[in-house]
Amino acid sequence: MKSWVSKAINIINADYQRSADTHLIKLEQIAFRDIDIYLKDESTHPTGSLKHRLARSLFLYALCNGKIVEGTTVVEASSGSTAVSEAYFAKMIGVPFVAVMPKSTAQSKIALIERYGGQCHFVDCPTQMHSEATKVAHELNGYFMDQFLFAERATDWRGNNNIAESIFEQMKAEPHPIPHTVVMSAGTGGTSATIGRYIRYKGLASQLVVVDPEFSVFFDSFKNNDHTLTATRGSRIEGIGRPKVEASFQHDVIDDMIAVPDAASIATMHWLNNTLGIKAGPSTGTNLWGALSIAEQMKQRGEMGSIVTLMCDSGERYSETYYNAGWVEKTIGSFAEYTTKLEAIGAPA
Ligand SMILES: *Cc1c(COP(=O)(O)O)cnc(C)c1O
Repeated sequence: MKSWVSKAINIINADYQRSADTHLIKLEQIAFRDIDIYLKDESTHPTGSLKHRLARSLFLYALCNGKIVEGTTVVEASSGSTAVSEAYFAKMIGVPFVAVMPKSTAQSKIALIERYGGQCHFVDCPTQMHSEATKVAHELNGYFMDQFLFAERATDWRGNNNIAESIFEQMKAEPHPIPHTVVMSAGTGGTSATIGRYIRYKGLASQLVVVDPEFSVFFDSFKNNDHTLTATRGSRIEGIGRPKVEASFQHDVIDDMIAVPDAASIATMHWLNNTLGIKAGPSTGTNLWGALSIAEQMKQRGEMGSIVTLMCDSGERYSETYYNAGWVEKTIGSFAEYTTKLEAIGAPA
């Protein structure tokens, strides 16, 4: 058993060794004097999103904890990118993978999971995912990865080229190498936890601002210090915003939060594509809207500096949804008011 485990760990480490870091793109075209905005492009991982980092960490964590041995079926509750990335690593080390997901999950995501040999197990409603995944793992004598519980602790927050270390290293030669602010949204909360802890550990002057979409309880729970809040419906921005305060969401490492209207997220996502030619997913729209709001405030105060935010995944995954005008009109409504605001900020001189 032990030798199988060390081989599996080696396989994942070798894959990491062959991988390149993701780019930190400077958004040169955004016309703020003395305020530079950067986008850490997490869409270029082999499985297309920042969940590639999480899946690698969760697999290593489970292997090193003795939770995954030869033949262990790995189970996850995820309708999205986490299941895609975990299916990739499960296939790589040769263990079965089951994603427990709502019936409504997009066919394209199901196809990606199945391409990596994963199996999809459906529930009627998203709220059933967690308990069903626990049950499926029990029945198969498998292991429930539980991203919302373990995301914050599976990542090496002090370094090991985690996302924070990578960002701060890549900023080193910039005019303002220590960002004024790092902006990130929260799904599991794992990424913001890593960034916030790293900032403190290194004694950096940067602040961490977390942006939150509508129908998510993270913002209110942060402002009112109430971790028991729940919402009756899910977020409309895929990958971020939760109807309950997840265990991995770490309030105390966050300096401030901004609630971003969904129409602003969508407007920013389209604006980024139309004016800068970067086609990102909707959570990147939320992140960038937050970064631009902070830039606006800095400008009014006459401050200089840099702001870093994340491109969490590519827009290619969303051609049927967020890049489909009919779907957006029906699901989110008009976002023209925010496009007008963006055009006022961003136009190159
Ligand atoms: C998971 C996810 C996020 C949020 O990252 P967490 O580390 O889980 O908080 C943002 N955008 C997308 C597309 C995601 O899949």
